[in-house]
Amino acid sequence: MFECMVITYKPFELKLRYPFSISGFSRTFTPLILIEIRHEGLSGFGEASMVPYLGENIETASVYLSQVNLSWLNYPFNYDEVMAYLDSIAPGNPAIKAAIDIALHDLHGKIENKSCYQFFGADPENMPLSSVTIGMDVPQIVLQKVKEAELAHVLKVKLGSKADKVLIETIRSVSNKPLYVDANQGWTNKEQALDLIFWLQEMGVKLIEQPMAKADIRSNAWITERSPLPVIADEAVQRLQDIEQVKDAYHGINVKLMKSAGMHEAHKMILRARELGLKVLIGCMSETSIATLAAASLAPLCDWADIDGPFLTSNNPFKMPGFKNGKWILTNRAGLGIEENT
Ligand code: MG
Repeated sequence: MFECMVITYKPFELKLRYPFSISGFSRTFTPLILIEIRHEGLSGFGEASMVPYLGENIETASVYLSQVNLSWLNYPFNYDEVMAYLDSIAPGNPAIKAAIDIALHDLHGKIENKSCYQFFGADPENMPLSSVTIGMDVPQIVLQKVKEAELAHVLKVKLGSKADKVLIETIRSVSNKPLYVDANQGWTNKEQALDLIFWLQEMGVKLIEQPMAKADIRSNAWITERSPLPVIADEAVQRLQDIEQVKDAYHGINVKLMKSAGMHEAHKMILRARELGLKVLIGCMSETSIATLAAASLAPLCDWADIDGPFLTSNNPFKMPGFKNGKWILTNRAGLGIEENT
């Protein structure tokens, strides 16, 4: 039977290996929506990972999806048109929009029998190392997490509490790996933050993410001017239009598919950042292999990658993508290259 862009979806609780704690929040799973878009016998898969503090959840995503009707969509897809349509339904909702965009890219690859990274001119040879995050915890658990992240060549550390130096020293007692630091807006005094950044540089840290509150553009800019390490905007930039507001206050931006509403706009953000001379880190939320492979398809165009969903979750319903020498492996499978768990 001829099928024309039929969307089906189901909620899924993606379990975290450890309760996730950043400045002020803690949780044990992340609600996802897994979607499938069918077209003439082929299926594209997408996912929305809805971390609670960004405001989307199963209910908002279901309400949104109930308004989506892709029967007008013809192949080849015009992704600008798709995004304009998705934005016309409702503002916000970037994660569920990303799910649709990712599924269309996967489907597109399967229709063309091409890997998604080819659509963006990404060369797997240029894949950056991907960090794996070590969440805040008591020293004993931190050491266990470092051990479990042994495949990673770079570790990312969440700071922004009074125990920042202790956490770094704990990691340094067992590992010499380069570190990325994410303050998640947790630092409140710019002079102290800068002092800490100089200390972190001596401790082998390579970049700093979102030192202070996103609304405090001036303090973040003050730190960026003086920092010996690249300072990257994360919470301060979500979609393409936000780059203009942060371009003078940071050295670079953290692009995440669940913020950018998918791969198409993430790619545009990478291109715009390059035009502005900004560095690019590609990051993620707690995600299955679907969004992991989607982000990995764009990662060769970025300076750094922090794509660690499958490392931090315990019930990924798909096969974990290949990871070797600290990097995700892009295969020549059609679409994103998602494989069933066997
Ligand atoms: Mg961050």
